[in-house]
Amino acid sequence: MTTKTFQDTWDLDVFFEGGSSSESYHTYLSEIKEDLKAFEQHIASFKVDNLEEVLGEYETIVKKVVQSSAFVNCLLAADVRDKGAAQLQGQVAQIHAKLQVLLGALDDKLVTIDEDTWTSLLEKEEFKVLEYVLNERRRRANDKLPADQEKLVTSLAVDGYHAWGKLYNSLVGTIKVKVKENGVEKELSVGQAQNRFSDGNREVRKEVAKAWKEAWENQSDTIASALNHLAGFRLQVYEQRGWESVLKEPLDNNRMKQETLDTMWQVITDHKGTLTKYLNRKAELLGLEKLSMYDVSAPLTAEETKLSYQEGADFIIEQFSKFGPELTEFTKKAFEDRWIEAEDRAGKRPGGFCTSFPVSGQSRIFMTYSGTLSNVSTLAHELGHAFHQHAMHGVPTLNRFYASNVAETASTFAEMIVADAAVKYAKDEKEKISLLEDKIQRSVAFYMNIHARFLFETRFYEERKKGLVSVEKLNELMVEAQKEAYCGALDEYDSTFWASKMHFFITQVPFYNFPYTFGYLFSLGIYSQALEEGTNYEDKYIALLKDTASMTVEDLAKKHLGVDLTQRDFWEKAVKKSLEDVEEFLELTK
Ligand SMILES: [Zn+2]
Repeated sequence: MTTKTFQDTWDLDVFFEGGSSSESYHTYLSEIKEDLKAFEQHIASFKVDNLEEVLGEYETIVKKVVQSSAFVNCLLAADVRDKGAAQLQGQVAQIHAKLQVLLGALDDKLVTIDEDTWTSLLEKEEFKVLEYVLNERRRRANDKLPADQEKLVTSLAVDGYHAWGKLYNSLVGTIKVKVKENGVEKELSVGQAQNRFSDGNREVRKEVAKAWKEAWENQSDTIASALNHLAGFRLQVYEQRGWESVLKEPLDNNRMKQETLDTMWQVITDHKGTLTKYLNRKAELLGLEKLSMYDVSAPLTAEETKLSYQEGADFIIEQFSKFGPELTEFTKKAFEDRWIEAEDRAGKRPGGFCTSFPVSGQSRIFMTYSGTLSNVSTLAHELGHAFHQHAMHGVPTLNRFYASNVAETASTFAEMIVADAAVKYAKDEKEKISLLEDKIQRSVAFYMNIHARFLFETRFYEERKKGLVSVEKLNELMVEAQKEAYCGALDEYDSTFWASKMHFFITQVPFYNFPYTFGYLFSLGIYSQALEEGTNYEDKYIALLKDTASMTVEDLAKKHLGVDLTQRDFWEKAVKKSLEDVEEFLELTK
């Protein structure tokens, strides 16, 4: 296959020329501020007859705000020292906050519309397509306390709720993990220490695990306070609103039923025994009786294949072309039109992301490409996100805010196409084993590690309802959850995981765990269908992506996949598909 030569830096000038000193960008921000003022007035004088007009205005403003914030985020990611961009980001944050307040005010108005008027409104042609999201906004507002009380909760939450999460974050920044390396005492940051868990030398991992535990134990009283208080605040608000289950909010945020969640975990629990065969084999290969938690992500081989950016891009395009023409053409365009910032250079932010410029109907991908196969899969992953945004182009903005559990559908899907191909074309058996293991590790993460977090969190909240939960009890709940989630396959567990895992302290997103397992399996299920149906599948796939933010996940699956998510079938198929890798791994490592 011949493709053009691709540049590995992105083009942001097509949006606003001149980076953080761009004239046109400054003008754009001023325009948005004017738009917001007008929007505020229209909401204040809102009448039912003006709904269409107000929603039209909403559409335009949200797109512009997203566009402006995408631009400044891209600038900062590409150069963390860009002071001008940092300054602009402050302005954009204010615009964002203002927009949120106005949307809250709009919701308050929606709630006041009486039932009959509301029903006849939604029957109108112009609102039909927005029926689900409009009903949802109204229902969510109705589910809460009266508007003035919610306002009070929101303002008290700044220092009484979110502050606990902030305290945790600043505390983590100061934690030092003390280890001895080649006889020299060293103080590692949390992030540095974490990298040592994938070190090939077991002594290094073991020593770091010991120091890691000590470091978290030293802070566990303070961290337990933070966790207890933020959970206490959350439970108190739920009680005031009359919400009985701690899962109500996360399930509602993800537009899914409790039944679906229960079925998913049940199927995983019934099948994950297969993963213990992998863990046991890995222990054997490492010369151990049983793995400890700190051995789970240890590497089996040290070798790594390298691909240039061009080779990586060509490989992705070639694999995508076996799935469908639209994804392929889209991806080529993204490479050719410089939608991707991949250059390996200093001063860039770590990690990867994909961001949408909705006014221009384009996306930008950020990452640092250094030639590893994991870079290739990150690139495919982010291209999947961009394709999702592309599929949603033309969908009304209100119907484009997908929840976390479907946010990774297209990215995981794209990653899977490439990961499977990589295994198939591995240059030798060693490489094949390591690529397979990479895939299996995802299942270990989603079915075991994240399951442990879910079990812990549900049990912790039950305990918390009765009163403050002590450090000893937290340790105990954590180990119990891990033992259960890992089917007792490990030798040693991580009792301080509740303290070291930042996800338990994110106040914006309660239960930052099950949506990811859902997303992985949902994507796997679609992928299995795609493999069965071949290249004709793409139209169906795009239709599904378009609908990801305008219905419940149960309806989405029924409409586009013809399956019932509250039943086992779909989950069975998806879980079994992922476990095929384990069989192959066991065969190759016999
Ligand atoms: Zn992603």
